[in-house]
Amino acid sequence: MNPFDLKGKVALVTGGNGGIGLGIAQGLAQAGADVAIAGRNEAKNAVALKALGGRAVALVADVNDGEQVRRMVAGAVKAFGGLDILVANAGINIRKPPQDYSMAEWHQIMDTNLSSVFACCQAAYAEMKKRGGGKIVTIGSMTSVFGFDVGPVYAASKGAVVQLTKSLAAAWAKDGIQVNSILPGFIDTELTQGARRNIPGMQERVVSRTPARRWGEPADLAGAAVFFASRASDFVTGTALPVDGGFSSSMF
Ligand code: NDP
Repeated sequence: MNPFDLKGKVALVTGGNGGIGLGIAQGLAQAGADVAIAGRNEAKNAVALKALGGRAVALVADVNDGEQVRRMVAGAVKAFGGLDILVANAGINIRKPPQDYSMAEWHQIMDTNLSSVFACCQAAYAEMKKRGGGKIVTIGSMTSVFGFDVGPVYAASKGAVVQLTKSLAAAWAKDGIQVNSILPGFIDTELTQGARRNIPGMQERVVSRTPARRWGEPADLAGAAVFFASRASDFVTGTALPVDGGFSSSMF
């Protein structure tokens, strides 16, 4: 039996309508899972659904709204009969020096990147219990490890995601639920396109700082996500796996 086979499994990917979330959703679908993607933007959902093909659904949901989170999970369950895999991927950043943030901006980032991850995991837990187990994947960042001078709130949220992941893993291991985090390096998505365009030298600095000598693509995250979503990782929980072309392993 293929330990990475996801046939018969149901996955929900927040922020699955673009970037890393879509790359992961495609990987899970290729491994055989039925996939629900969720995002706020209906037009982006429709385009992503085409890219997914096969058995997939798109749900409109704002992960910062508790009621919408509950409806999102119920929507995935209604579409496919249960929930086995949650990828809590939706995230944002506002790039500026610490002294320039308003508290509203602090809350916007912390709500989206941290509080919503907790809310989605809580909502998924009950459904996973019904199935006798499950798999949760959270998305950290290089800023879970390193400081970020123009992204202090983002870094605080992503550091906390790793600690939350460990705590959920410890709490839910007895329920057969494994919780792990992926820490992407610099990946070419909408989130990073602004920085590439606006910060002089950014494109080249990332290439020279990354031992693999390139930016990552959303598809680079699919393998790690399939591993954490599949039986192959049944004895792996509470970990944080860099998928970064060596960025976090190298001084230069
Ligand atoms: P994108 O900006 O390309 O995608 C973000 C996704 O999140 C979109 O699908 C968006 O959909 C969704 N989203 C944002 N806010 C909400 C919300 N309130 N409710 C529901 N969905 C929401 O970013 P990436 O793909 O780059 O990032 C994905 C994750 O990976 C994030 O957690 C990010 O922090 C993390 N990451 C990214 C890195 C990179 O280099 N790109 C590096 C390290 C981590 P919609 O607009 O339709 O709501």
